[in-house]
Amino acid sequence: MKPVPGILDISPYIGGRAEAQGATRVFKLSSNESPLGPSPHAIEAFKAASASLHLYPESSALALRRALGDAYGLNPERIVCGNGSDELLHLLPQIYASPGDEIIYSAHGFLVYRIAALAASATPISIPEPGLVTDIDAILARASERTKIVFLANPNNPTGSYNTAAGLRRLRAGLPEHCLLVIDAAYADYVDRNDYESGIELVATTPNTIMTRTFSKIFGLASLRVGWAYGPASVIDAINRVRGPFNVSTPAQAAAVAAIEDRAHVAHAKAHNSQWLSWLTGRIAATGLKVHPSVGNFLMIEFSPSSNKTAALADKFLMQHGVILRGIAAYGLPNCLRISVGTEEGNRAAVAALEEFMA
Ligand SMILES: *Cc1c(COP(=O)(O)O)cnc(C)c1O
Repeated sequence: MKPVPGILDISPYIGGRAEAQGATRVFKLSSNESPLGPSPHAIEAFKAASASLHLYPESSALALRRALGDAYGLNPERIVCGNGSDELLHLLPQIYASPGDEIIYSAHGFLVYRIAALAASATPISIPEPGLVTDIDAILARASERTKIVFLANPNNPTGSYNTAAGLRRLRAGLPEHCLLVIDAAYADYVDRNDYESGIELVATTPNTIMTRTFSKIFGLASLRVGWAYGPASVIDAINRVRGPFNVSTPAQAAAVAAIEDRAHVAHAKAHNSQWLSWLTGRIAATGLKVHPSVGNFLMIEFSPSSNKTAALADKFLMQHGVILRGIAAYGLPNCLRISVGTEEGNRAAVAALEEFMA
């Protein structure tokens, strides 16, 4: 069987590695997961849901949409939940792009955008970002009648950079109105900048803008696969027609509701991240490596291409010491590694190994 055009151009997404051979203690700092795990209430809710595993889930995730509406001040009718935000990111090109239509994303943007575009037989267009920040002007210069979707992660993974609220407003204002702007705000909960906006305001005030969020990061529920989107009624309606009717399981819905209601746990996770992100930045920079500023729960470390201490060798060395980072050559950044903020123990182990490698 020959797949439709685009499918065989996809390089499958490879998740962060989970195993290090030969090390006694392993610290997985490769997937931007929460080092604190989920709220204990979420775990309780997950266990309680085991009593009804024989029943199909509530198909519209109503309780979860209401909890999200309460937490963020949104109309639940304009929220749709997904099997991870990944599912929603994949559905949008299927719904809005035909073969030959263009889908734009930034050169070092999240790899899923290219995969989702190709899976819909659309044409992926990668826009260079020499400053390692999504280049709004370059996107506007390239967008045309054929552009159906612009994907933008804000903050972006793996660069850790972000675009300001003013920049996003300018992007939206300059794009053709028929073009859907997708703001992937997976790391929004970590950002502490007064010129940043997650996307809620832009969705509320402009047509054809949608924001996606996830329970995989600050809420610590990556294994349960829960994401959501807030967008125009017409887009939410279209997604609801195409998505699987039971795309979010009952245990996932229950745990997500409990997670969103435990504000103290989220605040604790955010404080932990702020403290250790800045500690890692300082300690890694002190080894002589370049650390790119990040507003997320991870950092991008750059190795000098002219030194014999390369990113690939560092990756191998750290692995032998039980510290798993993420190589990001697939993102066009072969001299860089990405490190997720971990537990205190994990962060200290990573820095100790990097110090030894650079010594
Ligand atoms: C982790 C991440 C997501 C979350 O994906 P899920 O499918 O919700 O787990 C989305 N976008 C970006 C940029 C990410 O890094």
